[in-house]
Amino acid sequence: MTQSPTLSLKDKVCIVTGAASGIGKGIATRYVADGAKVAIADINQDAADSAAKELSAQGPGEAIGIVMDVTSEEQVDTGVAKVAEKWGGIDVLVSNAGIQIVHPIENFPFADWKKMLAIHLDGAFLTTRACYRHMKETGGGSIILMGSVHSKEASPLKAPYVTAKHGLMGLSKVIAKEGAAHNIRSNVICPGFVKTPLVEKQIPEQAKDLGISEKEVVERIMLGNTVDKEFTTIEDIAEVAWMFAAFPTNALTGQSLVASHGWFMN
Ligand code: NAD
Repeated sequence: MTQSPTLSLKDKVCIVTGAASGIGKGIATRYVADGAKVAIADINQDAADSAAKELSAQGPGEAIGIVMDVTSEEQVDTGVAKVAEKWGGIDVLVSNAGIQIVHPIENFPFADWKKMLAIHLDGAFLTTRACYRHMKETGGGSIILMGSVHSKEASPLKAPYVTAKHGLMGLSKVIAKEGAAHNIRSNVICPGFVKTPLVEKQIPEQAKDLGISEKEVVERIMLGNTVDKEFTTIEDIAEVAWMFAAFPTNALTGQSLVASHGWFMN
């Protein structure tokens, strides 16, 4: 019987965007714990540096902070090149940076619509393009885009978020098709609600927009359709991100995995 190889991220070079906080930081923590070299790429330089210091102290892998606004072509290309030069290539990209802005469509400011699409879609495209070039040179890699249950479902008040998260599914499938010849895989993670600063901010905003209490927002809007009224955790998503990063073949590409306590079922 052939033995399957043990999956590991030891010494793999990984870039996680938006990793100074929330889900991204959880993924970076999981990767460093498995021995990876992780660039914490975030618009907030101080928070990125402090997360990198904290993770390097934990080991056994190491982390560095890289300042990067994922909507800036120049900052993405420069930041990715810096990481590739330091560690000799890029093996894993997690395009995770994101924000949330909620309004009813009729009042959605156009500037906010454009800001949302820029962070979620331009950011995924630019970081993918920059990392893809390095991965192609060094024999392949794994690209992971942070989708959401909102890559498959809609909710009121979230027009640009739902639009962008659906769009990432298309981008990932194109990367999977173009990347196959170069051993570059692409997959999307689709979390349900995870208690991070992004979600904490939405609770009072949605309560105001919908005219209901904050408790109702949590119990009805956020967790109402789960099988057990539980939030998904940062650690749950970090584990899925580890699996997509470490999985070694094109058997797992062009896929999306929903981790949402059954809120959305395929
Ligand atoms: P968070 O607010 O905790 O962290 C987001 C990070 O992204 C921050 O460190 C922030 O500084 C950084 N960031 C913001 N704009 C940036 C930019 N232009 N360039 C680089 N970095 C930038 O949010 P989170 O909840 O951890 O969300 C991370 C990702 O997970 C997002 O894409 C979000 O849409 C997705 N997601 C979150 C949930 C959830 O319930 N929290 C559910 C599904 C999907």
